[in-house]
Amino acid sequence: MVDTKDMALKPANEIQDLQYFGEFGGVNPSISDSATYTFLAAKTMLDTFEGQAEGCYLYSRHTSPSNMLLGEALAAMEFTETANVAGSGMGAITSVILQICDAGDHIVSSRTIYGGTYAFAKNFLPKFNIKTSFVDITNLEKIEAAITEKTKMIYCECVSNPLLEIADIRALSKIAKKHGIPLVVDNTFSPLIITPQKMGADITIHSLTKFINGTNDTVGGVVCGTHDFINALKSVNDGAAMLLGPVMDSLRSASILKNMRTLHIRMKQHSHNAKYLAERFEKDGLTVVYPGLESHKDHELFKSMYNAEFGFGGIMTVDAGSLEKANELMELMQAKNLGYLAVSLGFYKTLFSAPGSSTSSEIPEDEQAAMGLSDGIVRFSIGLDNDIERTYQSMKKCMETVHVL
Ligand SMILES: *Cc1c(COP(=O)(O)O)cnc(C)c1O
Repeated sequence: MVDTKDMALKPANEIQDLQYFGEFGGVNPSISDSATYTFLAAKTMLDTFEGQAEGCYLYSRHTSPSNMLLGEALAAMEFTETANVAGSGMGAITSVILQICDAGDHIVSSRTIYGGTYAFAKNFLPKFNIKTSFVDITNLEKIEAAITEKTKMIYCECVSNPLLEIADIRALSKIAKKHGIPLVVDNTFSPLIITPQKMGADITIHSLTKFINGTNDTVGGVVCGTHDFINALKSVNDGAAMLLGPVMDSLRSASILKNMRTLHIRMKQHSHNAKYLAERFEKDGLTVVYPGLESHKDHELFKSMYNAEFGFGGIMTVDAGSLEKANELMELMQAKNLGYLAVSLGFYKTLFSAPGSSTSSEIPEDEQAAMGLSDGIVRFSIGLDNDIERTYQSMKKCMETVHVL
């Protein structure tokens, strides 16, 4: 097994080194276009149900060859033993939580997480009497103090949405280990850039919808972890993934696998462009949050964790001062073809939205204020623009027109 603590491990090499000889010798694996699978011997079917037959497929809600190949590619990238793909990021997140937690259990979670995850923990899990303490992830004492006997996991995002706070994965892992609970990390904002397993995370989750697929044509998710955990997730008797059924279609997993091959090139370009704009707009006097800026409070922490060649990521925020200004700016930037007023991230064009009124609108206004999420914040997912100086000039004109600059 690989030593996942080796910081020199290079995730992009793992993707490059994947080698396929398809069913007919194709350079791309054949797509498994079947919901169910035949058995030549009845005994093998029973063994497969009991999880004892190697390499056999049973039914596509459990596993399909295409989903297996995509999962193995993602496990290679994240240096985990294996992985299980899901039909969406939320499908991955919710099945992990419901697999680990029983009724009455408790979760310690970062308070700045994806709006859907927040809503699930805050509004849905109480149905099962599962409670969540939402804590400032950068305050390690408070995180540890929130852990009780009922706590079953620490949950966080490497780079939080939308405030871009950085979770200290090494320190959080130490706390989790001390209390005998897993550290579950959503790495959607920083694929290739951060490898949580190298720093002691137990389970890494992605929404494939964003950077990993990169073409905004589908939603998808993955859970990367140990054989034991992934098998438990897929158990026909009590596995959350198997029984809740958030399964991905084979046609989609085949297309995501192909897009993964250019992920390293895309991440470098997203990061290059975002850093360029963040630096220029900060110099112009705007309030910019970007982990690659020295003014970012966790800039040094980020540098102690990242795979440097992929930079600081493609997401930055700019404070337009008020929601009205933010809206005016976003509408003008869309009219000038600088990108789309849309949620999501990781697209070839820049996407922008005001998180307070969109992706984080599940978080009540007073809580938004408490966490420093002001309603004038515009979140940018910077695109793959080849001429970023041209983009900067055009964006700057928009900011001047609406008097943000
Ligand atoms: C989008 C997103 C999710 C949810 O993923 P879906 O594919 O939309 O279900 C979870 N976490 C983060 C950080 C996200 O950005």
